Amino acid sequence: MEVHAQLKTKTKLFCGCSTQFGAAPNTNICPVCTGQPGALPVLNQVAVEFAIRMGLALNCTINVQSIFARKNYFYPDLPKGYQISQFDKPLCENGRIDIALASGTKRIGVTRIHLEEDAGKLLHQGAASIKGATHSLVDLNRACTPLIEIVSQPDIRSAEEARLYVEKIRSILVFLGICDGNMEEGSLRCDANISIRPLGSSQFGTRTEVKNMNSFRAVEQAAISEIARQKEVLLSGGAIVLETRNYDDESGQTTSMRSKEEAHDYRYFPEPDLLPLGVDAPWLAQIKSSQPKLPDQIRHELQVAQLPESDIVQLLNDPQRLHYFEAVCAGRTLPVKKVANWVLGDLSALANEGKFSFTQPSVSPAHMADLVALVEAGTFSGKLAKEILPDLLQGKSPHEVIALKGVKQIGNDADLIPFIEQAIQSNPGPLEQYKNGKTSVAGFFVGQVMKATQGQAKPDVVNRLVREVLDRS
Ligand code: ZN
Ligand code: MN
Repeated sequence: MEVHAQLKTKTKLFCGCSTQFGAAPNTNICPVCTGQPGALPVLNQVAVEFAIRMGLALNCTINVQSIFARKNYFYPDLPKGYQISQFDKPLCENGRIDIALASGTKRIGVTRIHLEEDAGKLLHQGAASIKGATHSLVDLNRACTPLIEIVSQPDIRSAEEARLYVEKIRSILVFLGICDGNMEEGSLRCDANISIRPLGSSQFGTRTEVKNMNSFRAVEQAAISEIARQKEVLLSGGAIVLETRNYDDESGQTTSMRSKEEAHDYRYFPEPDLLPLGVDAPWLAQIKSSQPKLPDQIRHELQVAQLPESDIVQLLNDPQRLHYFEAVCAGRTLPVKKVANWVLGDLSALANEGKFSFTQPSVSPAHMADLVALVEAGTFSGKLAKEILPDLLQGKSPHEVIALKGVKQIGNDADLIPFIEQAIQSNPGPLEQYKNGKTSVAGFFVGQVMKATQGQAKPDVVNRLVREVLDRS
């Protein structure tokens, strides 16, 4: 797999133009990114830092010195006539990534990660695609946007593994905060090099390169259909042609695009306008020490905290929600499952309605932590906690709400016993069951008392008292 990820820098790789997506065509351009004669590139340090972060996350060697190279080819979206990329000395090499299969963990080797610039965009006019178009417009806003290209070893053995690999790459990029991971907008693009071989053979067959997969599902489907196509060709006595193929999402099939160029066709040579890129030890150490936590580590920590797998998956799918969850739990001993229930339940529902945001939370993590702690201490019930949530959304703390609203907790025995006796008198059936040894019925009576007191009874006291009164009834 080759994955191209657009880095979330403010400016382009070799000039100060904005990388803003969706700007009017040819407004974020300058002499450098439009390839004017005499214009010289200046490397963006943040892009290098981001590439190093990905290299560290994938356990790569970060090369102390790497070289930019010109990859020469002609296309109207490439104003210089070459792409500045890295060739024989990339920034990161020899990494690995673990993917989780039903049969266990599988390790996929990462050959290299290099930095390169993106090309512009062609807007074909008069037809839906280049086929049948009358002419094309060129937008160079994207030209020179920073990309990293992540190349895997030929270790992937199935369409499912290919999808899992790309999913894992995406989640790491997103957690590092270096790419938005949007496959539909093209911030993450992948090409699959696919070949098949007879069982037992150690040599790879001729490969084809499949492009234009805009979703995880497309990655899997493209591989499935390309493997089937190659099987058919070979079984009917044909040969696979080394070529680039286009994946069509509608048909789920690949079609031939062009014969595949090889490295020597690009006449790579070192970029004379840029010095070799040096990464010194103090800078590398500084980047290392500020690496954010990665999904695998977070997953492990949440598993140790005994959060159910389904909650872990939901949190990992949404870093913003996860960060809020972590902020609530930070520095306090709270039952993580209860915190997850608030985050994935009530707060997520509010977020879906546009009434709450995990990035700019109106209920601060500290207030949410207070709320969970107060319920846990039995100061008030879960029902009451839900009722005061609208007040917390106004920015009030749980303690303020209690003081302001005069929310009173009924906590002494004398006040609660009448409610309990009433509940028992009106429910002779459950009482009979309790007397016959079904002690779990006590929970039913606790529920009745909480209802009768509109949630203001202290749950721990009710729990104790219900059993006492039942035992002497
Ligand atoms: Zn520019
Ligand atoms: Mn590339």
